[in-house]
Amino acid sequence: MYINNEWIVTDKKLKVINPSTLEVFAQISQGTKDHAEKTIQAAADAFDGWSGLTGLERSIYLEKVASKILEKKEILAQTITKEMGKAIRNARYEVESTASFFKWFAEEARRTYGEVIPSPKQGKRLMEIKQPVGVVAAITPWNFPLSMGARKLAPALAAGCTVILRPSNASPMSAIELFKIFEECELPKGVVNLLIGPAGEVTEPLLESNEVRKITFTGSTEIGKELANKATNTMKRISMELGGHAPYIVFEDANLKAAVEGALTIKFGCAGQQCTSVNRFYVHEKIYDEFVELYKAATSKLVVQDGLSESTDVGPLINEKAIEKVQEHIDDALVKGAVLVAGGKRVEQTKGYFFEPTIIRDVTDNMKISYEETFGPVAPIFKFSDEKEVLERANNTQYGLAAYFFTQDLSRAYRVAEKLQFGIIGINDPYPFATEGSFGGFKESGVGREGGHGISEYLETKFISTNIS
Ligand code: NAP
Repeated sequence: MYINNEWIVTDKKLKVINPSTLEVFAQISQGTKDHAEKTIQAAADAFDGWSGLTGLERSIYLEKVASKILEKKEILAQTITKEMGKAIRNARYEVESTASFFKWFAEEARRTYGEVIPSPKQGKRLMEIKQPVGVVAAITPWNFPLSMGARKLAPALAAGCTVILRPSNASPMSAIELFKIFEECELPKGVVNLLIGPAGEVTEPLLESNEVRKITFTGSTEIGKELANKATNTMKRISMELGGHAPYIVFEDANLKAAVEGALTIKFGCAGQQCTSVNRFYVHEKIYDEFVELYKAATSKLVVQDGLSESTDVGPLINEKAIEKVQEHIDDALVKGAVLVAGGKRVEQTKGYFFEPTIIRDVTDNMKISYEETFGPVAPIFKFSDEKEVLERANNTQYGLAAYFFTQDLSRAYRVAEKLQFGIIGINDPYPFATEGSFGGFKESGVGREGGHGISEYLETKFISTNIS
């Protein structure tokens, strides 16, 4: 842990397991409630000093952090891959994206503009200013162990907030590396604090504290709801980046080659363990068989192995429980009439948690996979016959994070993009993400936005009226 600019080690240790080899990658200290209280105190004490800097002064620190991250790209990427398994080239991309969040919000730190408001009455001058919300607690998942923290810390720090980060116990090493960078960049005492320990025990004090004014969370919808409920006791601000169940619609006029290539990237990247991974492929009946055959051929070329190898396309799942869930979704679909096209089982020759890239066809809306998040490398393909029908089915979910569709009809592109009830839309684009754009979900996929104008999530608006008569 890193509290008040000091590294803390405890006797209670937890093993971090490499999911490719099942070897122990590291042993980390586990904190307690007491450490949580210390992080709150440190962040609260540091708040006046950090929020009192100018945007430009904070921005200089964040620029330094961004540069250091890029300098250490390889060690950071290897840490990500060793602790959670993703292919090394995806890990390198995650490092670049982490640096880009610090760079972007370094720039945004200088633009927290307020407003001068024309007064309706004589003799008054009205304005609004933006101020940091206060101490922020960030809780992040294991699947993007570096960039999820950055997406929260960079805007919070830019806004003038001080921060406590609690990463997942499954993959805390990337966060530790990031905090070494904060130390090297000499961020003032207590501005950033790293809390590691059992979820629940160490997060409870953060939720209960009056000093913590905002909780920002990325993880499952189930835990997000629990944390949001608790946060209301002290009326904290919340940002929630939660689960997804993305549809991917291939209309009859789509560029099929592009749609198949896109389906490979967004389904099997990170072994399907992304909130934006596709959970439902809807393919028009006229091109259904052709799509399935092309997708099967492309999928058969994917290399599944230890993420550290340069030729890896698909790494392991995070743990045994994840393997069981994927298998359960496949078995349920097959029992209810779906047909296996590729894959379908665990990779047996290896020790790690590897699962074959899987395609199932003739999937219907009564199968578990059509409404539960799989979080694994399984592509279920549904058939549809018209636009209205597919829109209804795509929107028929509690989730609303990302949706994708392929068409060459411009009118349909606008129509469908506007009707889909999702926060992120890719039109002929399987990767509709950018640091400069907003990221976040409709419905139970979350509250608030990261990236883009995300600094506003960490700012309060203060209205000031002056009587000059
Ligand atoms: P999770 O179980 O909800 O865990 C997320 C984080 O919360 C982890 O740090 C976890 O710690 C912690 N946590 C678990 N139970 C807690 C509790 N009772 N109180 C406080 N903290 C608690 O989710 P996950 O399985 O790690 O991640 C996968 C989920 O995240 C998927 O649903 C995925 O869609 C979603 N996700 C969303 C986004 C997005 O931007 N919308 C991005 C990535 C992932 P431990 O890991 O140590 O248990």
